[in-house]
Amino acid sequence: MLDSFSSFPLREELTRAISDLGFETPTPIQLKVIPQLLTEPIDIIGLAQTGTGKTAAYGLPLLHHVDVSQRHAQCLVLSPTRELCMQIQEEMTKYGDHIRGLRVTAVYGGVPITGQIRELKSHPQVIVATPGRLIDLLERKAISLEHVQYVVLDEADEMLNMGFREDIDVILKNTPAREYTWLFSATMSNEVRGIAKRFMKDWKEFSVAAANSTNENIDHQYFVANHSNRFETLRRLLDFTPGIYGVIFTRTKQDAQEVSEKLMKMGYHVSPLHGDMDQKMRSKVMERFKNKSLQCIVATDVAARGIDVNDITHVINYELPDDPEVYTHRSGRTARAGKSGICMSIVSPKQISNIRQIERLVKQKFHKSDIPDGAEVIRKKLFFHLEQIAKAEPQADFAKLYHDMIHEQFADVDKDELIRKLIWLQLRETIDAYQDSDDLNAGYESKDKDRNFGNRYVRLFINLGEKDGLNTAKLVQFITESVDVQANVIDRVTVRDLSSFFNVPGDAAEYILEHLGQKKFKGRKVRVDQAEQSQGGGGKGRDFGGKPKFGGPRSSDARPYSGGRDRDGGGYSGGGGYKGKRK
Ligand code: AMP
Repeated sequence: MLDSFSSFPLREELTRAISDLGFETPTPIQLKVIPQLLTEPIDIIGLAQTGTGKTAAYGLPLLHHVDVSQRHAQCLVLSPTRELCMQIQEEMTKYGDHIRGLRVTAVYGGVPITGQIRELKSHPQVIVATPGRLIDLLERKAISLEHVQYVVLDEADEMLNMGFREDIDVILKNTPAREYTWLFSATMSNEVRGIAKRFMKDWKEFSVAAANSTNENIDHQYFVANHSNRFETLRRLLDFTPGIYGVIFTRTKQDAQEVSEKLMKMGYHVSPLHGDMDQKMRSKVMERFKNKSLQCIVATDVAARGIDVNDITHVINYELPDDPEVYTHRSGRTARAGKSGICMSIVSPKQISNIRQIERLVKQKFHKSDIPDGAEVIRKKLFFHLEQIAKAEPQADFAKLYHDMIHEQFADVDKDELIRKLIWLQLRETIDAYQDSDDLNAGYESKDKDRNFGNRYVRLFINLGEKDGLNTAKLVQFITESVDVQANVIDRVTVRDLSSFFNVPGDAAEYILEHLGQKKFKGRKVRVDQAEQSQGGGGKGRDFGGKPKFGGPRSSDARPYSGGRDRDGGGYSGGGGYKGKRK
């Protein structure tokens, strides 16, 4: 299989430019499209979004085929917006840096046309254009598309959404020498297909897993820990998320390697993925990740470009990236193809301002979440294993083969006792690790809290959790839609399996207790209680303070977990026995 740039039969100038740019591995769309367009150009439709490397996927083959000795336009790239137009020109210019005599010109609206007319007189071989401005230039006879052989429609769905259908038709009808049309689109609508039907012949389609560039359905959470506790926090988050299938992002290759090695030594199924590993090793890691032999990969941003997986449940930022834009690329690895996902960021108190910056870019509120304590981790794992046991379906012949043996050994053992033993075996290491674990939440003075809420907080319990299909964002949404409070009033949300906790300012607590307690969620009565009162705006320590003691709920949350809950059949009762399955 072709899986490195050097195995593509690209002209030498392009290979050199790729190496200058530091591209190490082709992205999935590049792997699929480039070999086809280099060796046997045909009409194609590429279903890929921005951030997937699609510009190079068509740009490299275009520049490979261009004949620089000819001083007329041979390639035309149409793009919906001026910004994208400029970006494409910039990218193409970089790819063509070593091709002598190559000119790539961009023409787009919103700037005086005269400068562009002047530039066109230098006879570029590649023109990148927005449809409106191109029509204008055609009408002024300032441009000729007579010799254009290759036409790329980039973000075709966006061009159609913006009402460029007629312009596209006019432009394509004005390309008499057009041999190949390459259409790229994030989505495949009837209208997009319509263009293909009208102007393309025998096209092939290539698609890659859609990047979730708008970050929809992502619950953005952040955890504040001191730098020295970063690794321990990561470990705790992993333990608190059994069943995770995720990508952990580090800033450097060295961190990816080190973090991964430390986790591997502790028994986690993870592997690094970074540029210091050769192509063969990286392919192997990807294979293991895809077949789920690995629960997580620890990757750098560059290496992660090669990940083409749809069902990633979590992205963890071990370190935030410098560029907020990079954050969205990372988080967009989860919640693809209509699924939801969680992006967790470990930040130091100083980096909270970076979170605010990213919030503005993503236009979503990030939820500050508590780093779980040892007892919470143990409880979470316990539930996970109980569920695993409940869901397990041993093969039919397994029961036949071992029935007698098992029966003989355990005939006299009480069922509960047996389950306890099984669970103990599963949890022993976790319990050892977390028996005396520290509180990792960094104390800091939050300006936001002082500004928004004054400085007295009340921690509330609600009898809804993950089992009700909630995550932090959905819980906040439910509360704000049920009672008249704004999302920024709710803070430090912790969503557990069956229940959740959140902070509200003292003067809102009474109102929320009274009104939210009258609501129903999916037909079930909502119960809200005061969990524990904390003073001082979250500045000092945790609401739940104190070290975990395994073996029973702590006083602070004893109420929600103690018996007599109005749950339909599940949860803990006093000493921690599991009562049955919940739906
Ligand atoms: P695009 O999806 O074309 O907008 O590309 C997004 C970004 O990825 C651009 O900044 C490209 O320079 C970069 N890029 C494209 N292909 C690769 C690659 N194979 N390796 C690393 N970066 C790439």
